[in-house]
Amino acid sequence: MRLSVVGAGPAYTDRPGSSGAAYLIRSDAKSLLLDLGQGSFPRLAGLLDPAALDAVVVSHLHPDHFIDLVPLRHYLCYEEPPSRVRVMGPAGLAGRLDALNGAAGWTAGSLDVEPLVEGRQAIGPFELEVVRVTHTDSSFGFRVSTPTDGRPDPIGLVYSGDCGRAEDLDALARPGDTLLCEVSFGPGPVAAGAQHLDGPAVGELARRVEAGRVLLTHLQMGFDRTATIDSVRARFDRGPVELVDPGFETTIGS
Ligand SMILES: [Zn+2]
Ligand SMILES: [Zn+2]
Repeated sequence: MRLSVVGAGPAYTDRPGSSGAAYLIRSDAKSLLLDLGQGSFPRLAGLLDPAALDAVVVSHLHPDHFIDLVPLRHYLCYEEPPSRVRVMGPAGLAGRLDALNGAAGWTAGSLDVEPLVEGRQAIGPFELEVVRVTHTDSSFGFRVSTPTDGRPDPIGLVYSGDCGRAEDLDALARPGDTLLCEVSFGPGPVAAGAQHLDGPAVGELARRVEAGRVLLTHLQMGFDRTATIDSVRARFDRGPVELVDPGFETTIGS
C-alpha cells in the first residue's frame, strides 16, 4: 500500500504550496482518498484520474478537509465520459455542498454520498476502520490496511483527522502501525478550547500504542517545524518521526 500526501495543510497558512488535507492510498490499481481539503484537487488530478477513485472518505465537515469535493464534482460532471465517485462522510455532507452551490441535489449529480459508520468495512482491497474522535460533533479517525487471504495486515495507517483527544485513537492503532497524525499546535500547548493535538500528545500516543513510525501533519502557521518534530521525538524513540508535505510518498504495510 502506497501513501501519497496530496495536501497536508491546516485551515489557513502562509506556506506557499500548502493545501488542505488530502491523503491518497493506492494498492495495485485501487485507490482510496482520505479527505479532500481546499486547493488539493489539482495535485490529486496530477497523480491519477480522479474518476478512478474507489472512494473518498471525509473525516469531518471543516472545509480544509472536504471543500475540494466541489471541483471533484465538476470534474466528474464535465469531463468525458461523465462518471461518479463514492464518498463516505459525516451526515449532512451532501447538504453542505448543495447549499454552497445553491442547488438541491447538486452533489448527487456526480457523487454517491453515504454516511460514515463506526466499525470495519471493506472497500476494494482496503479494510477501513472508523472511530469517532473529539473535534466537531461528528468527526472520525481512520485505520486503513490491506488484508491478504482474509488475514488482517499487521501494519496499517492510522489517520487522526482533526482530533482533540489523542486517546480516541488508541482503539484504532496496532503495534507497528504508521500514525498520520495532526499536530496543529506544534510543540504545544494546545490553545484553551481548541480541539486539536500538539507534539507531546502525539509523542505519548505513539509510545502508548507502540507505533512503528509517525508522520506529522496539519501544523498551523507560526509553529516551528523542528521544535514540533523534537517534541514528538522526546516522547517516542521507537521509530522515525517526520513532518510531511505535499509530494511525500511512502510504503505502508505489504
Ligand atoms: Zn483541519
Ligand atoms: Zn477540523
